[in-house]
Amino acid sequence: MSLRDDARELQGELAVLRRALHREPEIGLHLPRTQEKVLAALDGLPLEIGTGTSLSSVTAVLRGGGEPGGPVVLLRGDMDGLPVTERTGAEFTSRIDGAMHACGHDLHTAGLVGAARLLAARRESLAGDVVFMFQPGEEGWDGAGHMVEEGVLAAAGRPVDAAYGLHVSSSSYPTGVFSSRPGTLMAASAGLRVRVVGAGGHGSRPHAALDPVPAACEMVTALQTMVTRRFDVFDPVVVTVGTFHAGTRRNVIPDDAVFEATVRTFTPAAAERAAEVAVRLCEGIAAAHGLTAEVDFVPEYPVTVNHVAEHDFLADTVREVFGEERFEPLADPITGSEDFSRVLDRVPGAFVFLGADTTGDPETAPGNHSPLAAFDDSVVSDGSALLAELAVRRLDRLGRPTKETV
Ligand SMILES: [Zn+2]
Repeated sequence: MSLRDDARELQGELAVLRRALHREPEIGLHLPRTQEKVLAALDGLPLEIGTGTSLSSVTAVLRGGGEPGGPVVLLRGDMDGLPVTERTGAEFTSRIDGAMHACGHDLHTAGLVGAARLLAARRESLAGDVVFMFQPGEEGWDGAGHMVEEGVLAAAGRPVDAAYGLHVSSSSYPTGVFSSRPGTLMAASAGLRVRVVGAGGHGSRPHAALDPVPAACEMVTALQTMVTRRFDVFDPVVVTVGTFHAGTRRNVIPDDAVFEATVRTFTPAAAERAAEVAVRLCEGIAAAHGLTAEVDFVPEYPVTVNHVAEHDFLADTVREVFGEERFEPLADPITGSEDFSRVLDRVPGAFVFLGADTTGDPETAPGNHSPLAAFDDSVVSDGSALLAELAVRRLDRLGRPTKETV
């Protein structure tokens, strides 16, 4: 039976696992209940299993039947939920107040378990080893960075040669369609936090105080002007101020005003420039009004870049295994960011999106991170099949001596 057929047979149990994970989402780097479920699901497979120390990761190594010292492929699934209160009304809805698998990482976790089962059953015929990277803390905690630091890329005892990951989407793509692009795939993200410090006073006597509110408002709009005046329109930048806090009462001038923004860029040059210009802008506006500004610009995730040859290999594999119509080239990069970029910065590989819309109209369906985001888990086994197929094929190609080396 083909790998895809075997994956179909696993679909029922993978959906059960996905729903169990969905009922009990955990947030951040420490996901003890999720880790428990993953360890239980892998129990009995011929894997060398390690768990993280600074986070509740699971790293599982499958030894292939080839010569020792053969190639190594890494497959990754992230496992964390979000601080969102679920409103999907699903039968397996989150039982944890204020936590939801609103980004579909429960499907990724179940999908990677599926890939492990498929490959374990073919262990003897694998031309090398496979590392399964079950990762907490994707949603802003840099779980991938932590796992890289703890050695996931050398878990097999030698460096990983290629790495693959996928991300489901509750909107944008038809159900079951894989989509990606060569080169730049997702944005880099950074956080901007600004505290404008003035001197509080009576709202009726602003001249006797130093009001931080108008200056902070100026900064918010000036940051948008910065985007259009300081950056090449063909190297786009997104700045969104997501929080703004000041004051306690309408007739009291507060001592300070604090706002935070997310900054998305697509090249290292733009990221560097944003760090420099945004800080100067906020400090300058504060100074112009006789105030001070404490500005922190914190780089988060780098740009996610698909290696061109690995992207092409992935797209070809989708087309061959599932059919031409199951791969849609993605025209533009997306402004979301991903810590799988930590892996792709170090190892050739590719990342792919997988449509999991439940509404029949992906254009209008609630997107990832929405309290209404619903994911069709019938795609999980196809995700498992693709990851497993990528591992088999890549190990085969890397393991087979080329004409030049014979
Ligand atoms: Zn996500």
